[in-house]
Amino acid sequence: MILIDGKKEAANLREDLKKEVSHLKTKYNKVPGLTVILIGDLAPSQIYVRNKERSAKEVGLKSEVIKYPDNVEEIEILNKIDELNKDHTVSGILVQLPLPKHINKKKVIEAIIPEKDVDGFHPVNVGNLSSGYESSIPCTPLGCYLLIKKVEPNLSGKKAVIIGRSNLNGKPMTQLLLKENCTVTITHSKTKDLKGECLKGDVVVAAVGIPELVKGDWIKKDSIVIDVGINKTEKGIVGDVAFEEVSKIAKAITPVPGGVGPMTIACLLKNTIECFKRSQS
Ligand code: NAP
Repeated sequence: MILIDGKKEAANLREDLKKEVSHLKTKYNKVPGLTVILIGDLAPSQIYVRNKERSAKEVGLKSEVIKYPDNVEEIEILNKIDELNKDHTVSGILVQLPLPKHINKKKVIEAIIPEKDVDGFHPVNVGNLSSGYESSIPCTPLGCYLLIKKVEPNLSGKKAVIIGRSNLNGKPMTQLLLKENCTVTITHSKTKDLKGECLKGDVVVAAVGIPELVKGDWIKKDSIVIDVGINKTEKGIVGDVAFEEVSKIAKAITPVPGGVGPMTIACLLKNTIECFKRSQS
């Protein structure tokens, strides 16, 4: 069984990105810049943003975090995004989710120009991804994709089963695996016989948010299992996959923590660099 080490893969990716930033600096005499907008004081968001800032600096990006209190007016955020859209030193803009209730998520996502949308959430980027054009790709599915490709570079003809159809994870994951010529089944809360569907998967990606939903007898031998879930339980953080059982059957599996999570931030840095490169060409 291959234990897919997301920490190690993310460190390798950051190392490659660091070299790329250094090369870009020599070529253009400037470095890509990432600006993160953080609204409110939710502890998980604060931790994510701190990690993003630290990682961005580690690879040599120009990194900035703009903080607002919980009660900031929506218009102030939209005006700031407008300013950042026009700022040539900013390659990528990210507004940390979730947002306070009085701020319209759709408006905020659509305010960021697609060229600087490092999260890949703007409808133009969603459309480009599904049409097979160049686009920013949501960071978590991109990280999953890179991990899967490490284990199995040739995915053509493989059967992939995605559990969860969120815009953040399931849907973009589907597009990425379709592009690799997988036969993709996307499942959700109304799927009948989820176990039966999972048993067909050469690749199974679980992005649900239910602790240890996927059991050992849901997985066929030699499958690659990617666990996106991060669930707080009495026994600590667990994924959407029952790791102990599934790791005895699968060919390869990501642990939680230490699997998909570390790749997400590394992919954000990758997206920022890609946005910068596109802006220079
Ligand atoms: P989400 O928006 O809540 O979507 C969950 C999906 O799971 C929905 O499509 C839902 O179906 C489906 N679902 C719910 N119950 C189900 C069931 N019993 N059987 C089959 N499908 C079911 O969640 P998300 O934002 O994609 O996040 C999923 C998990 O990933 C969470 O644990 C989250 O914390 C984690 N996450 C991790 C990272 C990372 O970096 N590792 C990043 C983001 C999220 P319906 O559409 O029918 O409701």
